[in-house]
Amino acid sequence: MPAPAIPSQARVVIIGGGIAGCSTAYHLAKEGWTDVVLLEQGRLTSGTTWHAAGLVGQMRASRTMTRMSMYGVKLYSELEQETGLATGWKRCGSVNVASRPERLVALKRQLAAARSFGVDVEFITPAEAGKIYPIMRTDDLVGAAWIPGDGKANPTDLTQSLAKGARMRGVKIVEGVRVTGFEIKNGRVVGVRTNAGNIACDYVALCGGQWSRQVGAMAGVSVPLYSAEHFYIVTKKIAGVTPDLPVMRDPDGFIYYKEEVGGLVMGGFEPVAKPWKVDPIPDDFQFQLLPEDWDHFEILMQNAIHRTPCLETAEVRQLLNGPESFTPDGNFILGEAPEVGNFFVAAGFNSAGIANSGGAGRLLAEWIIGGEPSTDIWEVDIRRYAPFNSNRAQLQDRTVESLGLHYAMRWPRQEMVSARPLRRSPLYDRLTAKGARFGQKMGWERPLYFAPGVTGELPYGFEKPAWLAHCLAEQKAVREACAIFDQTSFSKYLLQGRDALKVLQRLSANDMDVPIGRIVYTALLNTRGCFESDLTVMRTGEAEFFIVTGTSQTTRDAHWIRRGIGEDFAVLTDVTGAWSVLSVMGPKAAALFKAVSPDDLSDDAIKPNRFKTIDIGYAQARAARVSYVGGPGFELYVPVEFAALVYDTLVTAGKDFGLRDAGYHAIDALRIEAGRRAFGAELSPVDTPLEAGLMFAVKLTKPDFIGREALLRQKQTGVAKRLAMFALDEPEAFPWGGEGILRDGKPVGEASSAGFSGLLGRAVVMGYVRADRPFEPAALQAGRYELDIAGKRIGLTLLPKPAFVG
Ligand SMILES: Cc1cc2nc3c(=O)[nH]c(=O)nc-3n(C[C@H](O)[C@H](O)[C@H](O)COP(=O)(O)OP(=O)(O)OC[C@H]3O[C@@H](n4cnc5c(N)ncnc54)[C@H](O)[C@@H]3O)c2cc1C
Repeated sequence: MPAPAIPSQARVVIIGGGIAGCSTAYHLAKEGWTDVVLLEQGRLTSGTTWHAAGLVGQMRASRTMTRMSMYGVKLYSELEQETGLATGWKRCGSVNVASRPERLVALKRQLAAARSFGVDVEFITPAEAGKIYPIMRTDDLVGAAWIPGDGKANPTDLTQSLAKGARMRGVKIVEGVRVTGFEIKNGRVVGVRTNAGNIACDYVALCGGQWSRQVGAMAGVSVPLYSAEHFYIVTKKIAGVTPDLPVMRDPDGFIYYKEEVGGLVMGGFEPVAKPWKVDPIPDDFQFQLLPEDWDHFEILMQNAIHRTPCLETAEVRQLLNGPESFTPDGNFILGEAPEVGNFFVAAGFNSAGIANSGGAGRLLAEWIIGGEPSTDIWEVDIRRYAPFNSNRAQLQDRTVESLGLHYAMRWPRQEMVSARPLRRSPLYDRLTAKGARFGQKMGWERPLYFAPGVTGELPYGFEKPAWLAHCLAEQKAVREACAIFDQTSFSKYLLQGRDALKVLQRLSANDMDVPIGRIVYTALLNTRGCFESDLTVMRTGEAEFFIVTGTSQTTRDAHWIRRGIGEDFAVLTDVTGAWSVLSVMGPKAAALFKAVSPDDLSDDAIKPNRFKTIDIGYAQARAARVSYVGGPGFELYVPVEFAALVYDTLVTAGKDFGLRDAGYHAIDALRIEAGRRAFGAELSPVDTPLEAGLMFAVKLTKPDFIGREALLRQKQTGVAKRLAMFALDEPEAFPWGGEGILRDGKPVGEASSAGFSGLLGRAVVMGYVRADRPFEPAALQAGRYELDIAGKRIGLTLLPKPAFVG
């Protein structure tokens, strides 16, 4: 067969004719970008989309992701009217049931958050659930949620309808053309190579489903996803199964249900998944399935027969086994690849690509057109990963776990256990021997808390955690004596070159033109005046800056800064692995330093926000007078090869000063107590410094920096939300973050962070309170605040200043 004709150039080339590619094409075209070519190696939907079950739910973990799903539901309900092609969309509602008490708590927490995000949800009794879903056994249920706006769609029809909507506006869709490579010039994609010729282009959107890892690799782009076998059964007609039957999810049984032509589609997320160990994924795997595996499906089948006894006698038409790609953290992958400019990705949908693609396609189109994400999409942002995440052994092992976690009981601050340990500080073995319990971030093993002498795992839970006593002892040491934190995982870069200052001044909201030896805390803002990051920057030379940022932001911030360099003469180097960071904090830190260093670290010799190189034992380190937890202390930046020596020196001398090892749970609680904001919680691409109360780190008098105009505008119009700090009125209540904040009974926001304050003897939370613009600071004090913890309302006391000031 001759290869189909393709244009020689296009503004955007989309790779993949599944639902993600078609939705991206539709949304680009809707925004007027019609010079778009979509290439599909097989036929539209022939990859994974054609065999999806088609459940479309709206509840997501965050406000923006929920809004994205709600948009998808709206789009799917209107699309047929617009294109004339049926989508199979049916607003049948969905019931989520709980059969274990802890699941009920999880469900109630989810409902409180969903309500706060604007989803119509209702808590119902088992009897009410039984009325809505009559074929279900309810005697062992403890509660359920009813989400009337959820629904189901026919994935193939929906995708064809999106494709038609794109075509109607001028997008060219070509089937039977495979992308085989890319043209990259000056770090940007400028063309794609295909088996039918080359296309010059300005942008690429890789929407290649499970093929995206291998297609991305052709351009040097890391897309960490891995396929797993994924199953559902389709039955023949069953009495009592009617077309208006809602979708039903029973996460305790790991299963879901959907009605289809009078029978049931029943599938699920088994706790131990089965990766599809095929590498590379064959190009011609189109409209194909994998062999049945009843043994593997058994656990789902047994649970389903328990929940819906009618399945015992139902005739099964098919056990469908189709591969779907999963990611290391269970969220999909969206955005501009940090490795190659104008190369965008939407892939790795973790069996929620039908529900998510409507919104994801719009977000991707907005990002391509606008040059930056239009909202806070950090949890799905491709830049939350680094190239090491594409290691295939890692991905394979993690997929066994991550698929299963979809319906498993999820606990606050639960850690994944597979493919660990990965990145380790030089102190890892020492800290392990001292009882450190680790969490993983950006691949780094980081001590969360120390439980010396305790064997076995401490249990997860929703109430006050088992680790709290250990954590409070660490917090006490920081406030009353001193503690040492291993913060080696901080992301660190060197920005060097003739224009380094010029670049930083353009990107930073604060004034970076400071003498050598100074430290500046600054925001990086986008054009909307919202946070892309917040950095601590040390001026180490005339044309050299040492930049420190959060552990999870290594890729993201490097991408933002490198892009911001533009034509200027400066180079950013990631030096994360070269430096350990040991923070020694607390009122006795100064005395401890005196004991181990001949250098003068007194308040007069080194003022706040200064650094200097000091001798410490036999080693040297850069001592920076900054504190994230509040109070006196230094962050020591130590070349990794000296880290063990410096740590041992401090720990030996520290015995006289009450020095204790402390972990990240303590850091988090202490920084909340001290009112310090965190990126990813209080600071995000939808929050401005005016809203976050961080104008001290912004110099509006500086002539020009990204975000300045937007901030000046917001100063005029006023803000519509303000960050506030609260203490919980009930000392026994334990929030984890994400809980809804109510003012006079009405939802006004969510807790962005929560921690237990040792000083107050109760939990403290931060969160944005929303109100009509202009929302004056004084107006924050009006009203009675409460926090909705799993349906229980706990009184909140507004804290005009942080619980700890220092
Ligand atoms: C059993 C099962 C049940 C599911 N149930 C649901 C559900 O109920 N709800 C839900 O939301 N999701 C569900 N999903 C998930 C959903 O099917 C996927 O997330 C979604 O279809 C992914 O869409 P996509 O466009 O990313 O990928 P695909 O549909 O796989 O599209 C990618 C396309 O890219 C093409 N391509 C790849 N490489 C190239 C190349 N080099 N050149 C040209 N073309 C290329 C492929 O041929 C393919 O057609 C389910 C999945 C499975 C397996």
